[in-house]
This record gives sequence, C-alpha cells and structure tokens, in this order.
Amino acid sequence: MANENGILIVGETAGGHLAGITGELLTAARHLAETTKEPVSAALIGEGVRGLANQAIALGADKVYVADGPVFKEYLNETHVAAAVAIAKEANPSIVLVGHTPNGRDLGPSLAFRLSAGISTDNVELAIDPATKGLRAARPLTGGLFRQVIAIKTKPQVATVRVKVFEPGQPDSSRQGQVVTVNANVTAPKTRIVGREIPEQKGVRLEDAKIVVSGGRGMGSAEAFKPLEGLAALLHGAVGATRAACDSGYYTHDVMIGLTGRVVSPDVYLAVGISGASQHMAGCSGSKYIVAINKDPNANIFKESAFGVVGDYKEVLPAFIDEAKKLIAST
Ligand SMILES: Cc1cc2nc3c(=O)[nH]c(=O)nc-3n(C[C@H](O)[C@H](O)[C@H](O)COP(=O)(O)OP(=O)(O)OC[C@H]3O[C@@H](n4cnc5c(N)ncnc54)[C@H](O)[C@@H]3O)c2cc1C
Repeated sequence: MANENGILIVGETAGGHLAGITGELLTAARHLAETTKEPVSAALIGEGVRGLANQAIALGADKVYVADGPVFKEYLNETHVAAAVAIAKEANPSIVLVGHTPNGRDLGPSLAFRLSAGISTDNVELAIDPATKGLRAARPLTGGLFRQVIAIKTKPQVATVRVKVFEPGQPDSSRQGQVVTVNANVTAPKTRIVGREIPEQKGVRLEDAKIVVSGGRGMGSAEAFKPLEGLAALLHGAVGATRAACDSGYYTHDVMIGLTGRVVSPDVYLAVGISGASQHMAGCSGSKYIVAINKDPNANIFKESAFGVVGDYKEVLPAFIDEAKKLIAST
C-alpha cells in the first residue's frame, strides 16, 4: 500500500453494544490524531453492527467501515481477519489500533501479517515520534520492571492496546461522520464452533472490575479466599489469584492473573499473601494503585505497591474489611 493516511481502530462489540475497548481505542486514536492531523476511522465487524456505527462516530470516529452479516456473528479468525484486511485495504491507514483483548490478541498479529506490517502488542503508551512522524508504542516487560519502546518501520503500523489504559470519551451525538459498507467477500467459514464452555461468572468480569481483590499462596487454604470474595462483592469488584494459589487448589485457574493468565488494569489491585513475582506482576502492573498485605517486609510486592501493610493477613484483612464497610455505610 502507498499514501497511507489516517488511524484505523478495529472495534469490538459485546451483547449487541460497542464493547468498552472500542471507545478506549477511539480515545487513543484521537490522541494520536492531535499530532498527525489525520482522520480517525473505525472498523466494525459482526452481525447487526451497522446499527452501532453512529455510536462509534459519537465516540470519535470520522468514518466507520462496516462488515455486517450473519457470517460475522461469531468471532472467527478466518472471517474477521479477512474482513479487517478488506477494510484496511479500503481505508489505507498509516496506523491500525486493535484491542489487546482475547479476540484482538488473535486478530492483531494475523492482520499485521496479512498487511505485511510490523506490530507491537500489549501497549500501554502510544505517541507519534517527532523524528519519524511514525507510531512509537511502549509496553511493560517482566511485570513492569522494564518498558520496551517500539518504533515500527512499516506502513501501516499495527499496535494492540491494553484494555482500560485509555478512558472512552463522553459520546457526542452531534458529531457527524460517514458510514461505509465494505463487501469483504467472506463466504461460509471452514471453522465451525461445536460447543462453548462459559466459566461461571460470579459478579463483575475481572477485566471490567475497577477493584480486584487477589489472593496468593500466602492465603494458605481455599477457605481463606471466602473473605476475599466477600470483600470483592462489597466493593463491586472481582477476585483474582496467583498461579501458586491456583496450583495449590485454593482457587480456580480461570481467574489466574499474570503472564500465563489474565491481564487486569483496575483502579485498585489488592494483593493479599502475594510475593509479587514478575510473572504475576505481568498481569496486574497496569493497575492504578496496588495495595499489598504481606507478612514479609522484603516481599517484592511492596516495591510495586502504592500502599502496603506488613503483617499477617489474618489480622490485617478483617480490620480492612471493617473499615471498608464503615466507609461504604457513611457514603
Ligand atoms: C513460565 C512461568 C509462567 C508463570 N506465570 C504465572 C502467572 O501467570 N501468574 C502467576 O501468578 N504466577 C506465574 N508464575 C509463577 C510465579 O513465578 C510465582 O511462583 C507465583 O506468582 C507466586 O505466587 P504467590 O505470590 O502466590 O506465592 P509465593 O511466592 O509463595 O508468595 C506467597 C507470599 O505470601 C506471603 N505470606 C505468607 N503467609 C502470609 C500471611 N499469613 N499473611 C500475609 N502474607 C503472607 C509470603 O510472605 C509470600 O510473599 C509463572 C512462572 C513461570 C516459570
């Protein structure tokens, strides 16, 4: 491709609505567009997504490319990547932003490959390099100990963006934009979904939670996670766990956080009985505030925490829960 221009985000939907990541990517794109002075467009791929185009415009898109149809009902690599490629060829952007979500982690690299483009994944910072005028993306490594800054030499440049790093803007229904239907020429997919196992969802989804209450091996038992569940429910948050806690049978692996688990970026991450190993921090270092309770004053988690209490969680946690209850009652 040549004469690339504009920033294209690949939006996502959930339950017939735009998923939060779509607004977050539009915020990121608008932020870059302040420097590049290029238009921002959004790709919406799915069944019935045509009706969501105006919402994407209200959130910051100047143009929305739509690939709508029953064939896109489920996310499948072969259908969604083909549609994203067709849209990217029509939009001809210089930068493509994709959410670092389960679907985006699958789509982003496939899309970059099909466009012969370079990609940077799991970014938490995006900027335009003043020298090259190209995208400069930064991502945390080894649980936030290092930050890797990546400049991509190809055009377009593709980047996946970590969830909850950018705030979606307030929708502005007076914004005007153009909606373009793209014929992606996608026929019946070879892949077929034969079954679906949905883990039981207690309360808020981990990735959506503003507060995550996480337990480690220091909890000592499955029973000890009960107060963590109670605290998470009280704070409208979600429970997480370390690999060591899950491997010890204290909690289920579906909420494991870290390098090989889920990645969360809540406002508050309460780490109880967690040492703060780099593989665990890889999943929570994007939290705004990490609050740690650990009996070892030299535990690594304290280096990563905004606030910490050195002590046995069996003494500290009940007092913490009492204070939380009092605060909630007084508001
Ligand atoms: C390739 C690879 C991938 C990995 N991926 C992941 C991953 O995705 N997620 C992950 O979590 N780990 C992962 N790990 C494992 C990781 O290296 C650590 O072993 C793990 O995170 C440690 O979990 P922990 O902090 O619960 O346990 P520990 O390291 O055993 O720490 C327990 C902590 O609890 C404290 N403690 C004990 N009793 C109490 C008490 N009564 N009150 C307060 N504090 C107490 C201790 O002081 C200690 O700091 C991975 C490892 C490898 C090699």
